[in-house]
Amino acid sequence: MRTFDKIYINGQWVKPNGEGSDKVINPATDKVVAKVPYGDATDVDNAVQAARNAFDAWTNTPSDQRAEYLRKIAKEMQKRSADFEITMVEELGIPTSLADDYQVSGPIGACAGFADRCSQMDEIEEINNSLIIKEAVGVCAFINPWNYPLSQMIGKVAPALAAGCTMVVKAASQTPSHAFILADAIDAAGLPAGVFNLVHGSGRVIGEKMCSHPEVDMVSFTGSTEAGIKIAEAAAPTVKRVCQELGGKSAFIITADANLTDAIAYGVEDVMVNTGQTCTALTRMLVPNSRYEEAIQIAKDYAEAMKVGDPSDSESYIGPMSSESQRKTVLSYIEKGIEEGARLVTGGTEMPEGLSQGAYVRPTIFADVNNKMVIAQEEIFGPVLAMIPYNDIDEAVTIANDTVFGLSSAVYAKDKGSAIVIARRLRAGQCYVNSGDFNYDAPFGGYKQSGNGREWGNAGMHEFIEIKSIQT
Ligand code: NAP
Repeated sequence: MRTFDKIYINGQWVKPNGEGSDKVINPATDKVVAKVPYGDATDVDNAVQAARNAFDAWTNTPSDQRAEYLRKIAKEMQKRSADFEITMVEELGIPTSLADDYQVSGPIGACAGFADRCSQMDEIEEINNSLIIKEAVGVCAFINPWNYPLSQMIGKVAPALAAGCTMVVKAASQTPSHAFILADAIDAAGLPAGVFNLVHGSGRVIGEKMCSHPEVDMVSFTGSTEAGIKIAEAAAPTVKRVCQELGGKSAFIITADANLTDAIAYGVEDVMVNTGQTCTALTRMLVPNSRYEEAIQIAKDYAEAMKVGDPSDSESYIGPMSSESQRKTVLSYIEKGIEEGARLVTGGTEMPEGLSQGAYVRPTIFADVNNKMVIAQEEIFGPVLAMIPYNDIDEAVTIANDTVFGLSSAVYAKDKGSAIVIARRLRAGQCYVNSGDFNYDAPFGGYKQSGNGREWGNAGMHEFIEIKSIQT
């Protein structure tokens, strides 16, 4: 078991003012795997003050030196990659065969990638008699979720460092250890004191304090739409910039001329990976009526071949939900789907075969789903796929866009060209055509209630930049 008894403020590991410690449970075994100390409002004040004091020197540090720090941090993270991987398996429940690929190596590479963007801060644009310059936003507060914890953390920390911001970060209570390992890596990289500060505690207590703090200039939040709204409300009286990366209910349109086997393998895998706890999961699969029954059979066979089990078993593809409470939420949605009259093709509310403990849910597929049903409108955040039939592409686009969310989407067609024509009609921040890969250099973020920010790439960096015009 890992025990952390200090938080990281002003370049030092310090005892927090908060009382007691947060016990982190392994969702596969129900055992405590880590203890993390609670901070309180005083710790937030101390951390914010440290970030404020460090801001002037850090923001005026030449961009090539900031780049060097980012490369050093990536190197120190790499040295700790096995440790990061273990925490993902133990705290989130992602199977060991997927942990590095989906949770660790990407963010380490992306951290180093932001080193190359530091020099953007030196660029000056001239418009007639004006000089347009870039400056860092200032002191940032980062609040993160548990589903891709390191990735979400680096998606904020690395561009903020590149832009010249200082920060206070908080990880989700369910998956905190990676943040302590990251602080250790940052400390080893020798980042100046106060630039990065780590606190820990409940979102409702210290999270809200971070958002309302008058010395915080910007909040970047990734999590549920519900918490995102509270964060924006807490930040509003001090008129901070608020970047929100929220939930989704993304649609995947498969056209009549697509290779059905390949398309469905891609779609089912996308929903089931990370046990369905992916904000961009393509949870509404839209299939032409002419191929609907054929598609359902392929999806059923594919899902039933996925091994559900102990995340430390290298054969497992689907681990437990991240917590028992998340399991209960997902099971209640499965019950709701049955109650609403959707056809249960595979899965359901029983424990997967061979398992008697742990927060497991069977990979579940519903057919005959109407887009107005709750299981088609609300984010379930579990391994549950809704298959929705459509008559023609216009109807498919209408169904895809009929959601309060707009985070991601996908199209699978005979060729990429025809898929892109449909992709352009979808109201979502991203679209994956014919199984396109995730790209850390491309903007990532949502439309509508999926949020208002962009992470990764140049757009992710721009979130942390103020633009100033100087008239000459
Ligand atoms: P969550 O319950 O909203 O929690 C996210 C973070 O916010 C946690 O650190 C939580 O702290 C904190 N928090 C909760 N209430 C707060 C409040 N009132 N004030 C300040 N902080 C507060 O979300 P989650 O269950 O961890 O994550 C799942 C959600 O994140 C899903 O909806 C998913 O779609 C979304 N997500 C979106 C993206 C994206 O990029 N768009 C990426 C990943 C996940 P505690 O843990 O201490 O409660």
